[in-house]
Amino acid sequence: MARHQEVTSMSADIRTIPHFIKGRHETGNSDRFGDVFDPSAGEVQARVPLATKAELAHAVEIAKEAQADWAATNPQRRARVMFRFKALVEENMDDLARLLASEHGKVVADAKGDIQRGLEVIEFACGVPHLLKGEYTEGAGPGIDVYSMRQPLGVVAGITPFNFPAMIPMWMFGVAIACGNAFILKPSERDPSVPLRLAELMREAGLPDGVLNVVHGDKEVVDAILEHPDVKAVSFVGSSDIAQYVYVKGAENGKRVQAMGGAKNHGIIMPDADMDQVVKDLVGSAFGSAGERCMALPVAVPVGEDTANKLIEALIPEIEKLTPGHSLDPDAVYGPVVTAAHKARIESYIEMGVKEGAELLIDGRGFELQGHEKGFFVGPSLFDRVRPDMRSYREEIFGPVLQIVRAKDLEEAARLPSEHQYGNGVAIFTRNGLAAREFAAKVNVGMVGINVPIPVPVAYHTFGGWKRSAFGDSNQHGMEGVRFFTKIKTVTQRWPTGEITDQSFIIPTMG
Ligand code: NAD
Repeated sequence: MARHQEVTSMSADIRTIPHFIKGRHETGNSDRFGDVFDPSAGEVQARVPLATKAELAHAVEIAKEAQADWAATNPQRRARVMFRFKALVEENMDDLARLLASEHGKVVADAKGDIQRGLEVIEFACGVPHLLKGEYTEGAGPGIDVYSMRQPLGVVAGITPFNFPAMIPMWMFGVAIACGNAFILKPSERDPSVPLRLAELMREAGLPDGVLNVVHGDKEVVDAILEHPDVKAVSFVGSSDIAQYVYVKGAENGKRVQAMGGAKNHGIIMPDADMDQVVKDLVGSAFGSAGERCMALPVAVPVGEDTANKLIEALIPEIEKLTPGHSLDPDAVYGPVVTAAHKARIESYIEMGVKEGAELLIDGRGFELQGHEKGFFVGPSLFDRVRPDMRSYREEIFGPVLQIVRAKDLEEAARLPSEHQYGNGVAIFTRNGLAAREFAAKVNVGMVGINVPIPVPVAYHTFGGWKRSAFGDSNQHGMEGVRFFTKIKTVTQRWPTGEITDQSFIIPTMG
């Protein structure tokens, strides 16, 4: 999903969204800027500076200076900053949600969900004194005790996608900073205002200047992060090709990297499923946020012809009722997509599906919202008789398009997500506990829902897909996040008793 950054006219009356370095706004000296749109209006509303390598190096230097004192601040005090930050975000929830909706395009209620899911990770990070407790073995050998401790890595970075501009930055900086690291956040250049506001609120909550810095940009600054020797770990979320690039380049430069990628999640509908509930769940999870969620369910797999026919009959009137609208309209169920380029891309996949021979039952192309004709709106689309060999099935569309792939039995249905290039999430809808249990155990996908359409794990568990949905071996947040942002040190100690032990040339054992 990499797109070239459009650079607009540098009109003086366009607001510039600054970087946030050492607790201060900085516009930097880059001569490149990115457009930030209001997707509902279809117009540029601000511009964001695209940082240079030198600007990134400056931010890293600031972060490095701040990190030592922050790491030496006891974990309870670090946790108190997180508690205050959570309260501040809650106080500012309405403003943050409107700001998010006006840059991303998701509706305000959904923007609140984005912020709330991030706050749940902050709540988890509030427990950092407990999370960082090491292990201790008394008497591992004669007079010998062994203990381990988790220490921060130093300066770490997070590179985030446009689709969750609050939740994903909080997944990363919440855990990393609580663990005693300093953080460089490189948010999506599509909707950078909320990440910036979150950093300001962290400062207001008592975080020392320089511990959290926001540097905007595109490939140039991402490369600078990946090449900088003082950035010890990089957490990335975005599309798969870029995730793979970040993973490989970061690892080549000796960094710890976790890189989450794209998705194409399947919902399997068994003949015994509660069809009324399934229809509600599918419509919400395929079209919510205009399908721009990595845990959306854009593929429905009814098992058996009878299930497929019943599903489609029930789905069509529900989809036809959907009302995409302005992101600030409380009656809209979903808003515009993020850019005109993304709208064109989604519509090209609908065209591709038609050419590949899938049956387009509802066509969302050409949708215009009255009074907002330039907005990046895409109506809901429904395809039937999609086949696994079709490119429009194999690739991620990331828009309000639901594809139905019919399967004759559970075995055939389960093969689809298991063999797909992506393995982020999957759901099965059934009343048969044994079938669901076996499916969950065997399916080759990282996150499974059983009668749960968007199986995003809670903050104290961990989030991460398999195959091309994630590169690296550790998940986001939960204990995996704590492990990712810390290194373990193990100490074996013995205190002199006055007795001299024999010299030995044999590897010591506890035998
Ligand atoms: P994207 O890959 O275009 O951008 C992600 C980040 O990478 C941004 O910060 C961007 O500035 C940077 N970037 C863009 N082009 C780059 C390049 N050539 N080199 C280096 N960096 C570059 O993704 P997006 O469009 O912002 O987000 C949507 C994608 O993210 C979808 O594929 C979605 O499935 C995925 N996503 C995955 C998860 C997950 O946890 N698996 C969660 C949310 C979103």
